[in-house]
Amino acid sequence: MEILRVENLKKYYGEGTNTVKALDGISFSVNKGEFISIIGPSGSGKSTLLHILGGVDKPTSGKVFMNGQDIYGGTDEQLAVFRRREVGLIYQFYNLIPVLNVMENMTLPVLMDGRDINQERLGELTDILGLKGRENHLPNQLSGGQQQRVSIGRALMNAPAVVLADEPTGNLDSRNSQEIVELLKLSNVKYQQTLIMITHDENIALQADRMIAIEDGKITRDEVMGR
Ligand code: ADP
Ligand code: ADP
Repeated sequence: MEILRVENLKKYYGEGTNTVKALDGISFSVNKGEFISIIGPSGSGKSTLLHILGGVDKPTSGKVFMNGQDIYGGTDEQLAVFRRREVGLIYQFYNLIPVLNVMENMTLPVLMDGRDINQERLGELTDILGLKGRENHLPNQLSGGQQQRVSIGRALMNAPAVVLADEPTGNLDSRNSQEIVELLKLSNVKYQQTLIMITHDENIALQADRMIAIEDGKITRDEVMGR
C-alpha cells in the first residue's frame, strides 16, 4: 500500500546565475512499512529531499503526497500538524535541547502538540532504547550513542507513520551505529513504520529493503534489494 509519493520535485536555491539546483525532478513512491536507504555524494540533494518529505522545507515545484494528501497544498497550520504527527525526524547531531532531561526531550513534541503523554509508550520506548534509569539525565551526561537513542525516542513518541533519518549514525563508531540501525529496524518492523534513511555507510545502506541513489539532484538508481 502506498503511503508516500513525490512527483517531479524541484528545489532551487538562490537567483539568476547563482541558482543551485538542489533537486532537479525527483519522483518516487513509497509503500507503508518500507525501509529505504538514500545514498549519494555530498551536496547531491539528499538532505534537501528529506527536509521536503518532512514538511520542513517547501519545494520550488512538484508535490509530496502523504496518504494521498498534498502536504504543501493546505494551510501552514495543517503543515505544522503534519510535521508534529505524521513524521519523525532524526539528525546526525541529535538536536536535543541541552537544558531538558531525557524524558523531557522525548516528550516535547507530544506536549507541543497539546496532547497527553502516552505513559505506556514512553515506558516501552525508554526500555527498548536502553534509557531506563537515565530519564533525568541531561544530554551532556550521555554518550553519543545514548543521545541518539533519546532523539529516536523523541521521533517515535508520536508514533509517526514515516521516520526520516539524516545520517543518524554519522557521528557514531561502528558498534553504536549498528545498534542504532537495529533499533530503527525494530520499530520499522514492530510498528510497521516506514523508514527513510540517508547514509554514507554502505554496510548500513545494504540493510534496507530498497536503495535510492541521488546525484546532482536526480535519482540515478532505485533498487529493491529485499531483506
Ligand atoms: P546532501 O544532503 O546530499 O549533502 P544537500 O541537500 O544538503 O545535499 O545540498 C544540495 C545542494 O543544495 C548543495 O549544493 C548545497 O550547497 C545546496 N544547498 C542546500 N541547502 C541550501 C541553502 N539553504 N541555501 C543555499 N544552498 C543550499
Ligand atoms: P557508548 O559506547 O554507549 O557510546 P561511551 O563508551 O561513550 O558509551 O560511554 C560509557 C558511559 O559513560 C555511558 O554509559 C555514559 O553514561 C557515560 N558518559 C559518556 N560520555 C559522558 C559525558 N560526556 N558525561 C558524563 N557521562 C558520560
